[in-house]
Amino acid sequence: MLEVDIASKTYPAVGGPPLLAIEGLRFSVPDGTFACLVGPSGCGKTTCLRILLGLERDFDGRTVLPGGNPRIGVAFQEPRLLPWRTVEENVRLALPKAMRARPLHDLFARLGLDGFENFYPGALSLGLARRAALARAFAVEPGLLLLDEPFVSLDEATAQDLRALLLDVWQARPTTALMVTHNLREAAQLADRIIVLSQRPGQVRGEHLIAVDRTRRTPEAVNAICAEVSARFPGLL
Ligand code: ADP
Ligand code: MG
Repeated sequence: MLEVDIASKTYPAVGGPPLLAIEGLRFSVPDGTFACLVGPSGCGKTTCLRILLGLERDFDGRTVLPGGNPRIGVAFQEPRLLPWRTVEENVRLALPKAMRARPLHDLFARLGLDGFENFYPGALSLGLARRAALARAFAVEPGLLLLDEPFVSLDEATAQDLRALLLDVWQARPTTALMVTHNLREAAQLADRIIVLSQRPGQVRGEHLIAVDRTRRTPEAVNAICAEVSARFPGLL
């Protein structure tokens, strides 16, 4: 499973004491389950994902990734597509060499990207660019999926479509997933567990396991989950 144990992570600050971003952040995510990380802005959520990606090596603690050294699928807040490459080229370029020629048609179709393979990112709406970013994350057949607010700043209808697409692709091949979100409803809809973080320096306030099967997460069920989580964690969001 995914294990996170970050004793501390500081950033140097210009002309002041170092900034303690994370202190004593510990949680784990069982294999093949979907966890959402929620917590106030600046509490170290993105830092945690960057540590898991190996982009931040200067920290005290340890992490264990599912399967030891999994392929990691990533989608950040910004789609970060190369503007001079088509959608399909963007996805293929993110694949290890041995996987570059793999068929992608099913994945594109599932994500509603049929017919957009040869578009350049500049010609895509933000919603389509986000779909392309999801395609890139899933194309590696990841052993670990890391998502950092992948639906932020979309209108609610588009975000809702994308959540359904994300679930559809994820359920076709459930992989250990950790998604950062500010949106409790989104977490209540997607997650097996919601991990609630404190203010900076980030640590776990508590975890909320969602027992309701995903197929039964009606708007009412999602409301009920949100109410439970809000009651357990006053002041959240
Ligand atoms: P979150 O994603 O939860 O909003 P971040 O992980 O981005 O929070 O940041 C945690 C804290 O660390 C914030 O106070 C942020 O300003 C600070 N921080 C993040 N990255 C850097 C950096 N590269 N240099 C200095 N401070 C940083
Ligand atoms: Mg962030």
